Amino acid sequence: MNNRKIIIGNWKMNPRSLKEAEKLFSEVASGVTSIKKTDIVICVPSPYIRDLKKLSKKIALGAQNSFGSDKGPYTGEVSPFMLYEIGVRYVILGHSDRRDLGEGNDLINKKVRGALSEGLIPILCVGENTREENHEYFNVVKNQLEECLNGVSKNSLQKVIIAYEPVWAISTTVNHKDAHPTDSEEMSIFIKKVLTDKFGIKVVLPRIIYGGSVNEKDALEFLKYGGVDGLLSGRASLTAKKFIQIIKICEALNK
Ligand code: PGA
Repeated sequence: MNNRKIIIGNWKMNPRSLKEAEKLFSEVASGVTSIKKTDIVICVPSPYIRDLKKLSKKIALGAQNSFGSDKGPYTGEVSPFMLYEIGVRYVILGHSDRRDLGEGNDLINKKVRGALSEGLIPILCVGENTREENHEYFNVVKNQLEECLNGVSKNSLQKVIIAYEPVWAISTTVNHKDAHPTDSEEMSIFIKKVLTDKFGIKVVLPRIIYGGSVNEKDALEFLKYGGVDGLLSGRASLTAKKFIQIIKICEALNK
């Protein structure tokens, strides 16, 4: 397994203009020049990718979606190859924002396989909407993993990043609640079990990261006690100072 820790920013459909995006990206880039042991990725809106790519060698660029085929009659879609060609190396797939727009596990599965076949690293988001007392949420995550990773080879699995994002903890969810590192630790163990059951005991497991209202105050706790190899940050990644702090917290733990 790639055991480097990874911090990923998900800008979603922000900021409003390329000018603002360049400013934010440059601020982050100048704050992370001393970082050596932590992988840094920012997933930005597609129209910003080419310009932001020029601003940093240290920060890898990610997209927030890609399609499963390399060309064809898919109006509005962007292929993983097109993204790879302009320097993208990671892509968020199966985010709850997109599941809300109607994406199901079958479509996400095609996208995951498409991304892998073009050399992109899929950041596959899984996570339950709510936590029922009967623990049904384990089955929700199990189905997401099994269906979204169907047909992925053992060898490719280690390239994937699994982002556990309980939707109830995401900052934009109405009445969202804070998750605790024990929630992510428990789910990380469960995810490893599901993957081992599916791919076999000898499989090299992928990195598992946590996302859901992560900020500079709780990043340490999640990284230390949450059983994860990194974090996926939405809102906090839109403030350079906070995002840099999260990265530095991660880097300090690696020493
Ligand atoms: P948040 O977003 O950190 O603002 O909760 C995380 C995400 O939706 O990826």
